[in-house]
Amino acid sequence: MKLNGISSNTPLNGNHLNGKHNGHTLNGHSHDVDQLIDAIGDEHGAASIDTPMRPDAFDLDDDTKIDLIEEHFREIMGILGLDLTDDSLKGSPRRVAKMYVKEIFRGLNPENKPAPTLFDNKFRYNEMLVEKDILVQTYCEHHFVPIIGKAHVAYISSGKVIGLSKLNRIVEYFSKRPQVQERLTVQIADELKKVLETEDVAVIVDAKHLCVSTRGVHDVNSSTITAAYGGKFEDEATRQEFLRYISCSNVTI
Ligand SMILES: [Zn+2]
Repeated sequence: MKLNGISSNTPLNGNHLNGKHNGHTLNGHSHDVDQLIDAIGDEHGAASIDTPMRPDAFDLDDDTKIDLIEEHFREIMGILGLDLTDDSLKGSPRRVAKMYVKEIFRGLNPENKPAPTLFDNKFRYNEMLVEKDILVQTYCEHHFVPIIGKAHVAYISSGKVIGLSKLNRIVEYFSKRPQVQERLTVQIADELKKVLETEDVAVIVDAKHLCVSTRGVHDVNSSTITAAYGGKFEDEATRQEFLRYISCSNVTI
């Protein structure tokens, strides 16, 4: 049994059985709750399709968020025992803060959502359009480490078509958040349905979770596949056609 990474049979001032070590409580978590938190992370369950956000999520501007995260990350590094006067480490809190706000979690802010560019379907192309092997780089919301893989998306035009690079941009936007793969898949599909004004949309995400490969069960070989099918893609023949096009190969990273 583990207590925040400390074995529970380690003598901890004699009070480890009370959920305390070195006189510090586990932020009010009992052992059971602490284990539940680990279990939820390892099971990678998602509670809702919308990314859970606070009502005041955008009261602070980006620069203030960067300053605050820098401060808190410096504290985390200090608690870990790292010497922040070291030349190599001293810039890390600010680097991490900027990376969170401006890069890897910028998809939390709806202002960064790509504006769809739609065109009339002049060629009257009424077959399936598939864009496969779109790079996915997102971050597990339970462990804050990368999930890396590919997305394959398809739609059948209802009269409008979208610029191909916009498909990449939509995948990228929903990836730049703390995520679970199931939610990412559905969020991409829902956005495509909305933008293209059709239910005839399919999305497959095939990705490796670094929280599975570099910790926990340390499985470096497995990848996770999730799918969302709407409208005509619920029909077996259409779905099989899509699967044939993407031939669902495993990702390598
Ligand atoms: Zn994880």
